[in-house]
This record gives sequence, C-alpha cells and structure tokens, in this order.
Amino acid sequence: MKHVYTIDDLRDRSLPENAKLAVLGYPVAHSASPEMHQAALDALGLDVTYIRLEIEPGSVAESFSLMQKLGFIGCNVTIPHKLEAMECCDTLSDSVRLLGVANTIHFHEGKIMGDNSDGPGLVKALEEDLKLRVKGARVLVLGAGGGAGKAIATQLNSEGCARLYLSNRTVSKAELLVEKFIENTASDQTRLKALGNSVSDLKMIADDVDIIINATSQGMKPEDELPFPVESITSKHKVYDAIYSPPCTKLLESASDRGAAISNGLSMLVHQGAISFEIWTGVAPDTKLMREAIS
Ligand code: NAP
Repeated sequence: MKHVYTIDDLRDRSLPENAKLAVLGYPVAHSASPEMHQAALDALGLDVTYIRLEIEPGSVAESFSLMQKLGFIGCNVTIPHKLEAMECCDTLSDSVRLLGVANTIHFHEGKIMGDNSDGPGLVKALEEDLKLRVKGARVLVLGAGGGAGKAIATQLNSEGCARLYLSNRTVSKAELLVEKFIENTASDQTRLKALGNSVSDLKMIADDVDIIINATSQGMKPEDELPFPVESITSKHKVYDAIYSPPCTKLLESASDRGAAISNGLSMLVHQGAISFEIWTGVAPDTKLMREAIS
C-alpha cells in the first residue's frame, strides 16, 4: 500500500481492492485522516480501506467520476479543493449552499452529494474539551472569512449564540458573511458584528466575549504573530485554537498562562471526521479510538 495515490492510480485502477474512502488534497501526504478513519473502520469490521489521493487543482471532477466508477463510498476534501469539490456536486447540504465549500463528499445512487462537517465538528469539540454549550454564549471567531472560520461561524450562528463577533484580516469577507446570515437565516442582526483584526478592535470587544476561537492560520509557524492581543485574555475566557500542529500554539500558551481554559484543534479534526464517517456509513464511529489513532 502506498502512502499517497494519484489520479493515474485511479485511471489505472492500481489501488488496494477495497479502497472505497479517501482524502483529496494537494498536497495531502501530511493528512492524518487515513489513520483516524481506518481505526474506526477496522473497529467496526468494515472491509474498507481509506487512502490519500493527491489530486492537482482542476482535476477534481475527473477524480470524482473515476471514483464513482470504482465504487467509492465518498471522500473528504481538503485544501485547496473545497470550492472545486462543491462545484462538482449534484446536491448540496444547506450549510454548503451558504458556505460555498464542501469538505465531505458522498457518492450515493449515482449522485455526488456535498456536505460540510467542520462547523458541527467544532461545536462537538467545544462541548467535549471545554464543556461548553454555544447556545447563549458570546463568541469571537478570528479568521471568520477563511474556509474553516466561515464553517464555524455558520454553525455558531445557527446554534443561537447570544453574540457573534466575526473578525477577519480582510474585513469585507466578515461583513459579507454577516449579510448572508441576515439574508438567509433571519438572524437578529443586533447580535452579529463584523470587524477587522486590528489590536485596538479586538481589545475593545475582549470583555464582551466568553469564547475565543482562532480559525486563522496564524500560529502554525513559530514566527507567526499572535492572532489576538493576549494581554486582554483573562481567566473568564475559554480559548479554542483550530490549529492542532503545533499542539500548543503561542496563543494557547499565553491564554493558559493567564488562567483561561484552552484546547487545540485535534478534537475538531476528530469530530468533523466522525460526522463525515456517519454520512458515509450511517454508523457513528468510536471517536475515542479515532483520537487515539492520531494522538
Ligand atoms: P483559509 O481558508 O486559507 O483561511 C485562512 C484564514 O486565516 C483567513 O481568515 C485569513 O484571512 C487568515 N489569515 C491568514 N494569514 C493571516 C495573517 N498573517 N494575519 C491575519 N489573518 C491571517 O484556511 P482554512 O482552511 O480556513 O484553515 C484555517 C486554519 O484552521 C488552519 O490553521 C487550519 O489548520 C485550521 N483548520 C483546522 C481544522 C480542524 O479540524 N482542526 C479544520 C480546518 C482548518 P484573510 O481572509 O484576510 O486572508
């Protein structure tokens, strides 16, 4: 079995015989999804192998068509294919229609169905790691204009946060999201606010939020600046970083030093994966096992 397969392997049918699930990305060698899903598949005794597929941008439609012919059940889709994947779908979930990006594809009765499990996965992660309920909470999403941030913000909006601050470096993306929420979900606009990512803007609202979620990519590299003015964090805050590598970003380290409860994105990875798994198989997998497989 190879670490990474390509579109040529799909064309030549040179895959493990029971390869029926995959993660598509470019690059994709780093993805932990195969180990996580395989643990759950094996525990259930399902004769299915989950593989990595490195697919170049522009080739997602052909890949899906080949995968359908080969009897694949579905796939996860990661950077940079979430938009291209959505455009290849025959049917879309409500969240994908709103977000414009899909991370879960189900090949079902000849149709390509697109879903997005990132937002619901994050909500489950907050419940599990930080014992938080988002209904009625005041939440700040940093990076709300990015793929993960939009999915998170959409879920939080639908779950009834008391206040939802959407911050993004390119503020127009956060403003557009607020407009969409108001148009599509009859949201009470007084509880929604778009803002940029300046230190002064973020300091101003720090006291008005309970939960801070980092969905920017800031923190993945050691030289990255902090995505939030940490001096404004106190022990009343709960801080969740969608980043899981490194496991403790500078944001989480500083927040913990200041007495805040913290958690990293591993739980979101596991729960978004578990939701995809259930879409494909109809069975809720063992998330503890999935987490152990990648910890
Ligand atoms: P993305 O679509 O490329 O979005 C990146 C976001 O980060 C955008 O909001 C972008 O702002 C912002 N950003 C990038 N560089 C910045 C900088 N120097 N200063 C301020 N803001 C900056 O990426 P994504 O797919 O949403 O992923 C975002 C993060 O979430 C990544 O760290 C990824 O690992 C993590 N993630 C985790 C999970 C999980 O399961 N745990 C799932 C998905 C993603 P602009 O809009 O202004 O460019």
